[in-house]
Amino acid sequence: TKWVYSFGAGRNEGRADMRNLLGGKGANLAEMASIGLPVPPGFTITTEVCTYYYANKETYPAELTAEVEAALAHVESSVGLLFGDATKPLLVSVRSGARASMPGMMDTVLNLGLNDITVAGLAKASGDDRFAWDSYRRFIQMFGNVVLEVDHHRFEEIIEHAKLTRGVMEDTDLTAADWQGVVSEYKEMVEEVTGKPFPQDPKEQLWRAIGAVFGSWMNQRAITYRRLHEIPASWGTAVNVQAMVFGNMGLDCATGVCFTRDPSTGENIFYGEYLVNAQGEDVVAGIRTPQPMSKGRAKPGEKPMEEVMPGAYADLVKVRETLEKHYQDMQDIEFTVQQNKLYMLQTRTGKRTAGAALRIAVEMANEGLISREEAINRVPPASLDQLLHPMLDPKAPRTVLSKGLPASPGAACGAVVFSADEAETRAAKGEAVILVRIETSPEDIHGMHAAKGILTTRGGMTSHAAVVARGMGRPCVAGAGGITVDYSAQALSAGGHIVRAGETLTIDGATGEIFVGSVPMIEPKLSGDFATLMEWADQVRRMKVRANAETPLDADTARKFGAEGIGLCRTEHMFFDPARIGAVRQMIMSETEQGRRDALAKLLPFQRDDFAQLFRIMAGLPVTIRLLDPPLHEFLPHTDAEMAEVAQSLNTDLATMKRRGEELAEANPMLGHRGCRLGISYPEIYEMQARAIFEAAVIVAKEAGKAPVPEIMIPLVATTRELEITRAQVEKQAAAVFAETGTTLEYLVGTMIELPRAALNADKIAENADFFSFGTNDLTQTTFGLSRDDAGKFLPEYLEHGIFPKDPFVSIDVEGVGELVKIGSSKGRTVKNGLKLGICGEHGGDPASITFCESVGLDYVSCSPYRVPVARLAAAQAAL
Ligand code: PEP
Ligand code: MG
Repeated sequence: TKWVYSFGAGRNEGRADMRNLLGGKGANLAEMASIGLPVPPGFTITTEVCTYYYANKETYPAELTAEVEAALAHVESSVGLLFGDATKPLLVSVRSGARASMPGMMDTVLNLGLNDITVAGLAKASGDDRFAWDSYRRFIQMFGNVVLEVDHHRFEEIIEHAKLTRGVMEDTDLTAADWQGVVSEYKEMVEEVTGKPFPQDPKEQLWRAIGAVFGSWMNQRAITYRRLHEIPASWGTAVNVQAMVFGNMGLDCATGVCFTRDPSTGENIFYGEYLVNAQGEDVVAGIRTPQPMSKGRAKPGEKPMEEVMPGAYADLVKVRETLEKHYQDMQDIEFTVQQNKLYMLQTRTGKRTAGAALRIAVEMANEGLISREEAINRVPPASLDQLLHPMLDPKAPRTVLSKGLPASPGAACGAVVFSADEAETRAAKGEAVILVRIETSPEDIHGMHAAKGILTTRGGMTSHAAVVARGMGRPCVAGAGGITVDYSAQALSAGGHIVRAGETLTIDGATGEIFVGSVPMIEPKLSGDFATLMEWADQVRRMKVRANAETPLDADTARKFGAEGIGLCRTEHMFFDPARIGAVRQMIMSETEQGRRDALAKLLPFQRDDFAQLFRIMAGLPVTIRLLDPPLHEFLPHTDAEMAEVAQSLNTDLATMKRRGEELAEANPMLGHRGCRLGISYPEIYEMQARAIFEAAVIVAKEAGKAPVPEIMIPLVATTRELEITRAQVEKQAAAVFAETGTTLEYLVGTMIELPRAALNADKIAENADFFSFGTNDLTQTTFGLSRDDAGKFLPEYLEHGIFPKDPFVSIDVEGVGELVKIGSSKGRTVKNGLKLGICGEHGGDPASITFCESVGLDYVSCSPYRVPVARLAAAQAAL
């Protein structure tokens, strides 16, 4: 096995497609070097070494030392410097680089190779004492923090103290002698904390840094990040060792991070930040305020790189073009300028907001950089969710508290909390919270994830908070310098206004504004790039997308989002309306058929009207209406007052009511008297519903040109006889209504397949069914024997132990529930060629489950209205 791969200086052993072995950073450094971009030479220790390290009690393969030595020697000879040399010292950076990018999760050490002797060599070689001592103190600080685990506050205290004594404000005002003093104090402090002197041997420094990178793969924040992003621990990280170039050598030096397009909006402009005379971490650390790249983006007083370093800027613009053409995607790059010469330190596919992903995909397809199919595949369907979410109502009154940077779009409103832990605890209780921090660090990600929105008072558009929030799709306002946060007082203040923990704030991540209290929000617009991509998706997908909807509002929303009909109208949801619940209860509580019929007669006009409205909204599209499903006790009156009311409508007393209520109680209602079992016990219920459907269909057919096609669906069928009986009830009503009105309409009668027995006997059931709709909520419940209503209590443990890879109520269990769907589909279709098949459980809106539905050959998926665009895109991706 080869454990070490060189890059740069004419020896490029890796390529971009070797990211599994070299990690993303290493693979792309090799790729950039091989397409002729200026990359300082270095080498990558593979992810297999990491795997070996953890499989072998934290030891390395025997050949590693020799391979590292050889690769280091090549770097030395190509830059003409020597590692640990007193006069011409080579310094290196040591960075992690996993297969998937994990921003800020892993540790980095810069300027490695400095010690009390080489610092003098660096000073002499560079002719710059201040630079050399500044580099040395940076090295002690990073190495001390990352490798020796000395708290970074200890280092900052020393710098703060030095600045105070010297009476200066900025780090940049400290002189060579000041830094030299800082270095001595650092070393003393490190020795005091660790009990050992700061390591002076560069080889020891190197191996300890390599060990720390591998060690950081198992630190808590990396573990949390992997859990949130479903990255397996077995992947491991690579380690990149690279010759240092210096952005902190003077005013003709700089360092920056940028994106080849705007990662917030997707706009095709060169977007980023840089700092003159600074080193890597300074830009993201948010200590100094970074400056914009281009003149067009500069605000008054800012110093864009285009103006300050025109030569290096022009080179960078060329690199930007080369990278986008080469990678055919938006890139996130890191660069350093040393004495006006540009060096590339990283490129990777840039993280972007959902809106930016959409715009970039559509524009790149229009620019001819990628195909339309590729554009469709570029947008993660689930991310569309963000775009469908509310924005602040522009007309709503509001009180602006302050303003920061528009770091991640979307509006959010919630109670202020000042720590990630608190955000997590309160969010777990269902509270909406805004996490407010001076700045965030990788330790805060769990809280950022839990919060509705994030607000920081320090840091730029590429600060940790901004990058992570965009990746997570959380609205974020960063660097709101006008706000002062006081953690100990649990309060923030701006312009004399104080907001305490628990009080409400609203943030707008699209404008950077922060408002006192809550501001009303409005629905987003679905035009422009969104509409274009959806159109492309619609052209390639095979499955239809319908919505689960019962109210006119839901049906309207579903249409607006492109639903092609209703796949599930749960009629019981219509029963809870205050105008009807009385009649529903009267029906349930009466002990005679006549009593039930009297009550049902009151419900009929309501139901007819409901269905007519749905048919009008869904003009010409299929509407699947499911007859009553839940156990009747769900509708029972709860309070004595409610009971008394029902008693009165039935001319009986409270005691009778209570007794009837007890009769209806079931030990296991989800497996009890529900679904078609109700239709069989009380045929009058299904008769009323069927009649209401046909009467409504006739009314709408007469008033509009397009006759609706009702699809009447029987729930919880286990045997074909159940369907035969209930189907006959429905057909009888159809015949009656058609005879009464003189109008005949097309309609279908089908069933849900939501019990294992139904799936296994789908061939027999199909004889009485015009269609099947897989009810994967109940099918999951009954296949696993896992209660939909109670599983939440222990599911987290099942996920943690890897017993379930995903929550089976969210993403279909392909091996079990999926197998039943497969069997049901093929058995159904052996009896009826082309039998119409759909899915209406929650899984109908889950991208992974939609991929599965495509593979089984379902005709449509049905999901909640807000998921319709997600499903349209996922169905397109599944078809490609
Ligand atoms: C199902 O069981 O999957 C379904 C869609 O019906 P409900 O969720 O109403 O039980
Ligand atoms: Mg069900």
